[in-house]
Amino acid sequence: MTGICSIIKEIEARKSYQLRRASNRYIKLILIMASQIISYKFRISKPSKTVQERLEQTLRLCKDLYNASLQERRDAYQINRIALNYHTQRAQLPDIKTTNHEYKEIYSQVLQDVLKRVEKSFDGFFRRIKAKQKAGFPRFQGANRYDSFTYPQSGFSLTDNRLTLSKIGKVKIKLSRNVVGKVKTCTIKREIDKWFVIFTVETETEPLPKTGESVGIDAGVCQFLTLSDGTTVENNRLYQSAQKSLRVAQRAVARKKKGSNNRKKAVLKLRKIHQKIKNCRADYQHKVSTWLIKNYDVICIEKLNLAGMVKSNLGKSLNDVAIGMFYNMLEYKAVSAGKELIKVPAHFTSQTCHACGHCEKANRKTQADFECVKCFHKNNADINAALNILRLGINRLDATHNIS
Ligand SMILES: [Zn+2]
Repeated sequence: MTGICSIIKEIEARKSYQLRRASNRYIKLILIMASQIISYKFRISKPSKTVQERLEQTLRLCKDLYNASLQERRDAYQINRIALNYHTQRAQLPDIKTTNHEYKEIYSQVLQDVLKRVEKSFDGFFRRIKAKQKAGFPRFQGANRYDSFTYPQSGFSLTDNRLTLSKIGKVKIKLSRNVVGKVKTCTIKREIDKWFVIFTVETETEPLPKTGESVGIDAGVCQFLTLSDGTTVENNRLYQSAQKSLRVAQRAVARKKKGSNNRKKAVLKLRKIHQKIKNCRADYQHKVSTWLIKNYDVICIEKLNLAGMVKSNLGKSLNDVAIGMFYNMLEYKAVSAGKELIKVPAHFTSQTCHACGHCEKANRKTQADFECVKCFHKNNADINAALNILRLGINRLDATHNIS
């Protein structure tokens, strides 16, 4: 018995296997910009008991394989300074199936994909080291964290709303929209007690008709967005009411005795609310970004400093993370629609007078009002900032066009 194989045995034997929190999320519902891959996510309608068991089983075995393969790489690196690669680990798969028959019940490419995920996290690790960034060693995955597995090429087929998964069975999915294009991969994901399927699809870029409009966007805490033409986009109300129930649920967990059944129930409820907030937010951001891409040809935003915000206050950081997600969405939608997204440095956009260019902290009378101390130009502070962002963006666009 070699390598990963014996480690898997060990994992099974160790009942109190220490689960560590993982930092890497593998499934990002973000398409890869350059290659025009979009993803579709659908809910799986209540799977049958047998299918549900197979799904759970596959997830558990994939998690064990992931951790074992990670362990082998860690050991090889820490003890012998050898970097193992995907191919040496993949060569062990037949062996693993012979020693542990449960693995025969999983489609081969699904297992290969697990090893690819490990490879990916190590690649990221080495890349960060090379770039002299903070690099945490790839971490072990707990049962709650490891929540998906992928058919990377084949082993699945979709006819109408029926999805057949090799070695698992048939499931019905709630097809909320049509899948257009060639399906490349199929990922099954568990979100607490619900199952989802995510297809990545290769599509041709579809440029949207030009409108001739440009816009600058200022993102804030009170208003989600303020546009340079004065339009404001509110924060999602549903999301805010969910925040309230989140606080209630957090307090409920804190009150319950550790290890008690009631606490477990309260934790589950809390996780469900978190999930709901996440879905709510994504849904809202999709609507807003699609609207913007449809209506404007050039969209100017501020460059976010996501690395520097960790130290600032938590509420604001969370808000910035949400805005970061939104900007990513805007970026890929702009690419596929043939529109321009321009990022400008965020310095002084809120203190500079749009009318005369005078930059001073005192220009900003209050959080909401802008009044230039030099030319007495008055405006809403967010609109003034959005106008500055637009101007900077257009300058930048002109500069790049002049070079090319
Ligand atoms: Zn002024």
